[in-house]
Amino acid sequence: MNTTTLSFEFFPPKTAEGMDNLRQTRAELAKFNPEFFSVTFGAGGSTRDRTMDTVLEIQQEGLQAAPHISCISSSKEEIRNLLQAYQAQGIKRLVALRGDVPSGEVSSGDFRYAMELVAFIRAETGQHFHIEVAAYPEFHPEARAPTADLLNLKRKVDAGADSAITQYFYNADAYFRFIEQCAANGINIPIVPGIMPIYNITQLARFSSVCGAEIPRWLKMRLEEYGDDMVSLRAFGIDVVSELCETLTAWGAPSLHFYTLNRSGVISNIIENIGE
Ligand code: FAD
Repeated sequence: MNTTTLSFEFFPPKTAEGMDNLRQTRAELAKFNPEFFSVTFGAGGSTRDRTMDTVLEIQQEGLQAAPHISCISSSKEEIRNLLQAYQAQGIKRLVALRGDVPSGEVSSGDFRYAMELVAFIRAETGQHFHIEVAAYPEFHPEARAPTADLLNLKRKVDAGADSAITQYFYNADAYFRFIEQCAANGINIPIVPGIMPIYNITQLARFSSVCGAEIPRWLKMRLEEYGDDMVSLRAFGIDVVSELCETLTAWGAPSLHFYTLNRSGVISNIIENIGE
């Protein structure tokens, strides 16, 4: 069994069945002793109550829960109320994000960038929360330039972020170079790689086109070749992602954060492979 520190990300289910499924997923992943479970938040507060309910349920199980908060299209009052509610419930860690305006809508609200949210959380709640922010080894799709994106991370750190979780990537070199550039620019917080297991090429290509994570040509072509043979595709995906995780931990990545999509099977296989 490996000794890498782990965390797992969930989305808040919409149905009672989804909540039941997530309970099972959580029970299976809890055996890896994660540092925390995080729960995503729909931009503009669309999942506010579901995120809160999921987070509180995790916490009641005696596990550390970290709600995501995205600030785009939210007012300061809404974020203040949310922070107070989490503080009152004893939540100690947040993932602070800008979020994306749903297509066809125009951004409204009091925040433009995540850096403003981080500064607001610190101004309102001091050092109560450990604040995670997002980082992009292959750069955010809206970034004007790589250096501008890196400096944005620095602004988030200067505003009070304690650590960062990256967008997923399959090219470990992008992460290594990014960490070196961060260090050269005085960004010294832990930057934890976000790991996306491979379940399905169509879904992965859709996510990647939105978030700017590259699927390397060799990987895309190999995955496409499996066609409808999902069993072989997943087995290959487990090999590829296990190797990525091993490379990252051997290099010294501080921890691994898994985008679970509320599933545990493939991730359990990957974790069991690390350090074998
Ligand atoms: P920011 O750090 O604000 O950056 C956004 C863009 O603005 C970047 O291109 C940056 O370079 C640019 N920028 C920043 N400041 C300036 C400036 N002053 N002038 C010009 N450009 C600037 N989304 C959700 O809605 N809910 C979630 O729960 C969620 N969880 C996530 C978890 C992780 C680990 C990650 C990596 C992403 C997550 N996202 C989530 C997606 C995220 O909200 C999007 O990637 C969003 O587009 C950017 O959010 P950010 O916090 O990185 O924004």
